[in-house]
Amino acid sequence: GDFPIEVDTLVVGAGPGGYVAAIRAAQLGQKVTIVEKGNLGGVCLNVGCIPSKALIQAGHLTEHAYGNEQLGIKTENVTVDFTKVQEWKGTVVNKLTSGVEGLLKGNKVDIIKGEVYFVDKNTAKVMDEKNSQTYTFNNCIIATGSTPIEIPTFKFSERVLDSTGALNLKEIPEKMVVIGGGYIGTELGTAYANFGTEITVLEGTKDILGGFEKQMKQVVKKRLKKKGVNIITEAMAKGVEETKDGVKVSYEVNGKEETIEADYVLVTVGRRPNTQELGLEQVGIEMNDRGLIKIDKQCRTNIDNIYAIGDIVEGMPLAHKASYEGKVAAEAISGEKSEIDYIGMPAVVFSDPELASVGYTEQEAKDAGYDVKAAKFPFAANGRALSLNDSDGFMKLITRKEDGLVIGAQIAGPNASDMIAEIGIAIEAGMTAEDIALTIHAHPSLGEITMEAAEVALGTPIHML
Ligand code: FAD
Repeated sequence: GDFPIEVDTLVVGAGPGGYVAAIRAAQLGQKVTIVEKGNLGGVCLNVGCIPSKALIQAGHLTEHAYGNEQLGIKTENVTVDFTKVQEWKGTVVNKLTSGVEGLLKGNKVDIIKGEVYFVDKNTAKVMDEKNSQTYTFNNCIIATGSTPIEIPTFKFSERVLDSTGALNLKEIPEKMVVIGGGYIGTELGTAYANFGTEITVLEGTKDILGGFEKQMKQVVKKRLKKKGVNIITEAMAKGVEETKDGVKVSYEVNGKEETIEADYVLVTVGRRPNTQELGLEQVGIEMNDRGLIKIDKQCRTNIDNIYAIGDIVEGMPLAHKASYEGKVAAEAISGEKSEIDYIGMPAVVFSDPELASVGYTEQEAKDAGYDVKAAKFPFAANGRALSLNDSDGFMKLITRKEDGLVIGAQIAGPNASDMIAEIGIAIEAGMTAEDIALTIHAHPSLGEITMEAAEVALGTPIHML
């Protein structure tokens, strides 16, 4: 064997979970080594959040470039050089990933390229193409993330795409089938629809965007319809036949078998945690039946010097959750009393318009035994939204009836992803509807909707009868 290298804190995976954990651990005085088998930044920066938002923006600009009859804006000959779009997307990703590298180095974190395999609770092997090196560690944070699920009848190929394949297309498809109307399928489907692709979504359940309230989905579905997106629900995808320059997808709906031809089929039916090929069984780390690692409030696994964060643990597989858990784990290793508390954690879909939710929905609050008030305010009654010509949607503020405590909010509308942060703070800080109503919001801004929703909760809205 080789001579083991001793390290203090070992972080496995440099996605938004791992790299944030490494930086925080270094800030708190730990000597940190981070190992990444792929690219710094993980899924989020390389093939997830960031490139998808770049494509969404480019699609949005394309849609807008066609002008707007209502506003008297006419354009002709809109062209999209998709190679340029992809290049630009690449520069955004590169800026961020090299930024992460700079931050890690600046915090004196050792970066190692290679794949980690655990031997026991204090030992791991790191393998690259040529070598295997043994490391011993005092503490470890596992942040290996997740991978797209492949359906056996839809083997990924050049025409059968996972989200990464869909992000990296070289041309704008004429037709694309999207299997799975979750948030990833909806976001990418919308982006390509805005570029002019004819999109058909095959969703197995009764509705797309599971987890969001019906009224919120309605706002998005109306826009998708306008873009010509065809959503087929309760459709079971059966199989795919690859032709020379396209695909033939078969599916079953209402007991009938149908087929549809397209250039590509994008399969977004969920992601599975990367916990299988790590040697975790040699360490005895407990997982649930879905392969998610069990952790306590400090992100500690059943092995007391090993922590797990991000997509490999329970809860919503989102980047900001991974980063948050990364900080908690790093702080816990440093002896701080930090504990996870997801109360103010938002969930966002970058659809058109955006959907965002934080804390309780009205129904969840009722189920939890709260006597609640749900105060709704429409974007259509907001001056800024109207002058943006983007006034579909609403905000729903959930407060506790007895004292007006803010316990949740749902937003469907432009900039919902940013607007939800204000409610996150209100929840974290234990604010009431009155606190929000008393806060002067700039006019005209979408933020005023939050102030008005708080006024609705108090029974005194100015811009609503
Ligand atoms: P990852 O980002 O998956 O990083 C794990 C890293 O570990 C990888 O780089 C991997 O190479 C490395 N690794 C794995 N095994 C080993 C090993 N044995 N040794 C060494 N390294 C290893 N979330 C949001 O919050 N907002 C969004 O808008 C959003 N959009 C998304 C869009 C798409 C198309 C996709 C696919 C995901 C999106 N997500 C979004 C989800 C988000 O990307 C993930 O929740 C997030 O990346 C999880 O972070 P993580 O640190 O747990 O893991």
